[in-house]
Amino acid sequence: MASSSVKVAVRVRPFNSRETNRGAKCVIQMQDKSTCIINPKQPKDAPKNFTFDYSYWSHSSEEDPSFASQGKVYQDIGEEMLLHAFEGYNVCIFAYGQTGAGKSYTMMGKQDPGQQGIIPQMCEDLFRQTAENTDPDLSFSVEVSYMEIYCERVRDLLNPKSRGSLRVREHPIMGPYVEDLSKMAVTNYSDIADLMDTGNKARYYSFQRLIEKKKHMQIKGKQMKQIKNVSKISLVDLAGSERADSSGARGMRLKEGANINKSLTTLGKVISALADMGSKKRRSDFIPYRDSVLTWLLRENLGGNSRTAMIAALSPADINYEETLSTLRYADRAK
Ligand code: ADP
Repeated sequence: MASSSVKVAVRVRPFNSRETNRGAKCVIQMQDKSTCIINPKQPKDAPKNFTFDYSYWSHSSEEDPSFASQGKVYQDIGEEMLLHAFEGYNVCIFAYGQTGAGKSYTMMGKQDPGQQGIIPQMCEDLFRQTAENTDPDLSFSVEVSYMEIYCERVRDLLNPKSRGSLRVREHPIMGPYVEDLSKMAVTNYSDIADLMDTGNKARYYSFQRLIEKKKHMQIKGKQMKQIKNVSKISLVDLAGSERADSSGARGMRLKEGANINKSLTTLGKVISALADMGSKKRRSDFIPYRDSVLTWLLRENLGGNSRTAMIAALSPADINYEETLSTLRYADRAK
């Protein structure tokens, strides 16, 4: 794991009111890095045990010393990924899990103090660090794009006038990119929050979101040569993993399910192949990026000169056992 470029975390949330009202039982236990899950139908069976880089217990009140706060998750994952971006790596953070398991809470969080998720904390940290730069030879610029991938088509959420889907092309050096995708220059987090508000209104479906922040580090040398260093940070909001199951669906719903399945299973395969290469479990360098638009566009952020973190969001409740177990297995393959 030490040599792998993929960091994997799991996080279990408190019961929601529906679960509390139904007298739900908690099937997750955590200790240090390990997470285990108990089958509520076979409680005497040995629990299934998994180990991750981080196992976050958020299934208790914030006063509980074992509670993993938004700040803790950011310090462990966000700070490290931001540092890598400043070092020149492309980075990618995504949250995986069933709808309602805590993906948005972890990525975006809430406005209340201490409740902000990784995205706002990371953006604020990014601008704070660039503002603190005292090196006269360094200058920074940040650009934001916001897109939605729906049924293998890419839409620009910052340009509502662009009807239909945009073309995905490949640059010989920069790799795959979306042609004509808007890039907005921003100087603080509130600019980004405004753009996300605008973009959210244009979302066709509450589905996949990809934000890219590019940091251009311009280093002016003695001969007035300019060196430009671009790191891309991709923050991805995936579709709920349960929607990858298209059983019982028909027509548009079936097509949608199959496409979501394609994105999520390909992402799983890509991350797991990268993790195997990192830990030398396999030698083949074939990574199936091309099998979905999501992974193709993330190629430069997942493989090569990049660092990736995945946070799998878990429901604690017995009624979600099957879905939670499949999320744990998905996360386990990414190690
Ligand atoms: P998802 O994005 O996976 O569909 P959400 O992030 O919207 O799920 O979470 C569902 C609900 O659970 C929200 O009301 C959210 O505030 C709450 N929640 C999720 N994770 C946590 C957590 N770690 N601590 C407290 N509340 C949480």
